[in-house]
Amino acid sequence: MTAPRLEVDLEKIEHNAHALVVKLARRGISVTAVTKATLGAPEIVEALCRAGVTAFADSRIENIETLREAGTSTTMTLLRTPMLSQVQRVVKSADVSCNTEIDVIRELSLESGRTGRTHGIILMVELGDLREGIMPGDLKRIARDTLKLPNLVLAGIGANLACCSGIVPDDRNMSELSILADSIDDTFGGTLDIVTGGNSANLQWALDSPDTGRINDLRLGESILLGREPLHRQPIDGLHTDAITLVAEVIESKMKPSLPWGEVAQAAFGEPTPQTDRGEVARTIFAVGRQDIDPLGLVPPDGIDLLGASSDHLITNSGSKRLAIGTERTFQVNYSALVRAMTSPFVSKAFIAADYKKPAPSIPGQ
Ligand SMILES: *Cc1c(COP(=O)(O)O)cnc(C)c1O
Repeated sequence: MTAPRLEVDLEKIEHNAHALVVKLARRGISVTAVTKATLGAPEIVEALCRAGVTAFADSRIENIETLREAGTSTTMTLLRTPMLSQVQRVVKSADVSCNTEIDVIRELSLESGRTGRTHGIILMVELGDLREGIMPGDLKRIARDTLKLPNLVLAGIGANLACCSGIVPDDRNMSELSILADSIDDTFGGTLDIVTGGNSANLQWALDSPDTGRINDLRLGESILLGREPLHRQPIDGLHTDAITLVAEVIESKMKPSLPWGEVAQAAFGEPTPQTDRGEVARTIFAVGRQDIDPLGLVPPDGIDLLGASSDHLITNSGSKRLAIGTERTFQVNYSALVRAMTSPFVSKAFIAADYKKPAPSIPGQ
């Protein structure tokens, strides 16, 4: 097998997704699985379907198109508000899109009419994180304008927190979303299908809150793929945190002084990281770099410390012993390293298929 590569354990991903689907179902909340960190890998979508996920979302139309070409026929939502320049592609491949701008919604309506389709609209509301969203006071007006447009369905409303400003989903902002849903229903009649509360950062609130109100959907990516909640990056009980790992190959390993010598200026990526004098150490280089991963997002295996990274080299201290050239080591990845590795053409993806003769994994806490 070639290196560097991401090893994706499909059974662990299935387990994580199934555990979250079951826990949230008890609270009346369904899971929309977010595939944006997987570059539209159909293998992962299949594993998620086996776990009981029935709706998918991605922030890039390209990934949704890849999944459609691979034969995925489940509901697909585009998370990022569509670019006007991509409206045709959005209507063709996504069933639903999240929106904040009436100019875009109008074009989605026109394109749906032209192609004989019906497109679902989720209006995203700003609840304080200051990334995407309609200010709450403007929601009714934009909902009214949307409802007047042909070939669209107002499928729901939603919010996204903890992405730009780290604002925590809580009873206050989530009940604001519920109240907005009620007021849209009261004003226009009918019932909004989807009230999507947020991403993996909403999990703790969703599982612990005494009242989840109208929230009936969460859009989960990181928690399924990496088994962690994004607010404090703590492992989620009963979930695998190593479903996806990065394997890299040793290309140099030599005993060298731990301090550089010569006059110091900038390094390839700005100021050099200050080093401490540990005497002579085994400096081991892995053939993977900033083009492939976020070096700050890697956790090395025991006995190896990260020292720095340039475009193509990951420089480590492997202690008092050299590592054999050509051997491989496995690193844990965080979300940032995962996204970079998935989208790097230099990193191959190895899917470890599940063994379906085994009984389904039991869910912790059941
Ligand atoms: C990325 C994204 C998600 C998923 O976030 P995770 O933290 O990976 O669960 C959900 N909603 C929107 C709008 C997103 O952009």
